[in-house]
Amino acid sequence: MRKLNNLLKKISILLMPQRCPFCCRVIEQDQNTCKRCEKDIPVHAVLQGVKGSYKCSSAFLYSGKFKRAVINFKFNHKKQYSPQLAFFLSECIRQNYPDMVFDCITYVPMHDIAEKRRGYNQCELLAKDLSKLMNLPCHQMLIKTKATKPQHSLNAKLRSTNLNGAFKVSDKKLVKGKSILLIDDIVTTGSTLGECAKTLQKAKPSQICCATVLASANLY
Ligand SMILES: [Zn+2]
Repeated sequence: MRKLNNLLKKISILLMPQRCPFCCRVIEQDQNTCKRCEKDIPVHAVLQGVKGSYKCSSAFLYSGKFKRAVINFKFNHKKQYSPQLAFFLSECIRQNYPDMVFDCITYVPMHDIAEKRRGYNQCELLAKDLSKLMNLPCHQMLIKTKATKPQHSLNAKLRSTNLNGAFKVSDKKLVKGKSILLIDDIVTTGSTLGECAKTLQKAKPSQICCATVLASANLY
């Protein structure tokens, strides 16, 4: 049985080798990026404020190869990048929240219809891979009850109102008194994370910190 499993693993590596999420070069199975892109990984992660109340740590700025990797992950079915992007997410969390103790991880939910259309929620994949790396439980704490327009299709003014009342807490007991790490893929104006955090806040967590792979602007 073990021989068969090893053989199947080798075949899957041959068919779908590990690739650098930033340039698509084939890399070793246990690597997160190629040697060339490794040199471009920023030394300092981004730390910003969301809606004046919450901190948000991001691994990369929204540009070049980092932007391309997340766009491919999110829109082009490159789900296999999730563990690698989650690794960089964990690094930026370690850097920006060195003394913070988290009880659990949650993520920005998608509306059922949007998730069925895409086939997956990229934030859920990231949060689950991050939970393995950080050895923390990952819970779905929020449900998206309103089918809203995609945030990236709206201007800043509409983004801030588009999501009003779009989320609800799925189980208040999971949230109450907990120190929560809230995960999104990209922070732009902070409207999505702000609305999710505001909704979670109603169930009285002890604290909420946000983390994303990409940050597109300085929100302070
Ligand atoms: Zn690369």
